[in-house]
Amino acid sequence: MKTPLLQMNDEQWEALCDGCGLCCFRKFITGRGKKQKVHFTRIACDLLDLKTCRCSDYENRFKKQKECSRLTKNNVGKCDWLPETCAYRRLYYKQPLPDWHPLVTGNAESVKKNGIQIANAVHESDVGDREWEEFEVE
Ligand code: SF4
Repeated sequence: MKTPLLQMNDEQWEALCDGCGLCCFRKFITGRGKKQKVHFTRIACDLLDLKTCRCSDYENRFKKQKECSRLTKNNVGKCDWLPETCAYRRLYYKQPLPDWHPLVTGNAESVKKNGIQIANAVHESDVGDREWEEFEVE
């Protein structure tokens, strides 16, 4: 990846997403300041296709999900809830892409093969009143 993150055009920017879908899973935060921690759960946004880990209505996602936010060059540095594997986060912090990233392997399936996606995912609408802590993943 020769073009610096903040100088990428739209096509390069979109191609960076590895399709892991981790940003579309609900998270909760504990602690404050230096003790703050983001906890990932296996609770997915209702729009996430749990088989492909892709948004099932990418064009209309902001209309349908109020919490959905657009990742941009202006806010990527503030999105500290992104997983450490996320290509946008890694390039922002000058880290290399993981060796399983599709842009490295040339194979879109390499994300799945390396177990990056969250297993046993459930949709938020199926969780009901249960506590999100019950669904926390490591
Ligand atoms: S976490 Fe990052 S790489 Fe994974 S789907 Fe979200 S934006 Fe793409």
